Amino acid sequence: MSYVLKRTGPLAVAALALGISLPAAGTTCPASCEWGYGPGVGPATWGATCCPVCDGASQSPIDIRPTDASAGDLGPLRLNYRESHLELSNDGRTLVVTDELEPGANYLELGDRRWDLTQFHFHSLSEHTIDGEHFPLEIHFVHRRTSYDVAVIAVMVEEGPRKPAFNPLWNSLPAVESVAARTVILNPRRLIPGQLAYYTYRGSMTEPDCAEVVTWFVLRKPVPMSSEQIEAFRAIFESNYRPVQPLNGRSVLTGE
Ligand SMILES: [Zn+2]
Repeated sequence: MSYVLKRTGPLAVAALALGISLPAAGTTCPASCEWGYGPGVGPATWGATCCPVCDGASQSPIDIRPTDASAGDLGPLRLNYRESHLELSNDGRTLVVTDELEPGANYLELGDRRWDLTQFHFHSLSEHTIDGEHFPLEIHFVHRRTSYDVAVIAVMVEEGPRKPAFNPLWNSLPAVESVAARTVILNPRRLIPGQLAYYTYRGSMTEPDCAEVVTWFVLRKPVPMSSEQIEAFRAIFESNYRPVQPLNGRSVLTGE
């Protein structure tokens, strides 16, 4: 997903008043920017050819060191998801499941804050690593409050028993890039572990425009997927992950 950043106007003023840090000046990302994961357009080129903020100081993903994470006090994540009509598409880089047919149907709450689920998508290998180790896949559930306040729940996928909850998606995996989305009925909660203990830190979108507006919640418990399910995804999206970025003094906290 991408959107053009505007750094002036009421939003920027409001963000400053609220103490939310905005990307530095000169970080707009041209809509025409070409990026991907292969030679010549891969993650190492994004800062120079796409969006300077991709070379910023608070980028994602990161390597999480559990022994370096300290206990936070944000409280528990509350997922309010339900059976929903979702749109499935191949955007040329990943499988995107869009939640815009029933706006506000699915949302995340933490304390007195609420973010609406806008879409979720998949990366292979995982983007975040735990103690330097990748998982086969990682799912990003993208929730938005405003353009400057995005919460992403990252769920690691580990190889294990087949998980039928993925069938509505995996039975319709779009093999080629297409503008025609397919509609599926699914409760996204079934794709997420029951236990929502998490690591949290402040970071960015992991693709251009790399906006540094994301509160990440990386769940500690992975979901299983069979090797056949993992291979079915990789047969279409062979490699679509960004390598880990420097922590640059940011702290990683835990929550239950
Ligand atoms: Zn992602």
